[in-house]
Amino acid sequence: MAELELQRGDITKLAVDAIVNAANSSLQGGGGVDGAIHRAAGPELVQESRRLAPCPTGEARITGGYRLPARFVIHTVGPIWRGGDRNEDELLASCYRNSMRLAVENGVRTIAFPAISCGIYGFPVGRATEIAVRETRAFTASEPGIERVIFVAFGDDVASAYDRELSKR
Ligand code: ADP
Repeated sequence: MAELELQRGDITKLAVDAIVNAANSSLQGGGGVDGAIHRAAGPELVQESRRLAPCPTGEARITGGYRLPARFVIHTVGPIWRGGDRNEDELLASCYRNSMRLAVENGVRTIAFPAISCGIYGFPVGRATEIAVRETRAFTASEPGIERVIFVAFGDDVASAYDRELSKR
């Protein structure tokens, strides 16, 4: 199984093989972490990513990282929280699984995730981090390619939720 860790701060600064973007299905950039990644990567990113659109909720696409320190960006579209009975949990789990599948196919050993759906999309943070950690442990236990997974927390709520989740076993 991969090493799982929490890091505070800005995902665009990380020199990992791949960072994951919490995108929307048009892959044209947007607010939150999506906007930050596009600003840091430069305009070539949107030129490549929009050719891979639409990306349905729960799926993922991979592009280069351009001016980012990361080699790749994996764009995944999280579910919008609508109360919990619209398949949100399973769709969020698919984001993590499909992102890691693309990572392995592209030789990625180190990958960083933002808290997908936990910003504008309104997914409850504790529930999202539980899904993220569970899916990551399960996937990397059967797929030896990924060695290190970094969960990036921009705010205190996400950081403490990951702290709690990663200390459970
Ligand atoms: P979504 O639309 O999937 O909810 P958001 O970008 O609104 O995506 O938020 C997802 C998470 O990413 C939130 O927890 C937000 O605080 C965090 N975030 C925003 N900017 C950054 C960044 N530069 N690096 C890491 N995380 C970020």
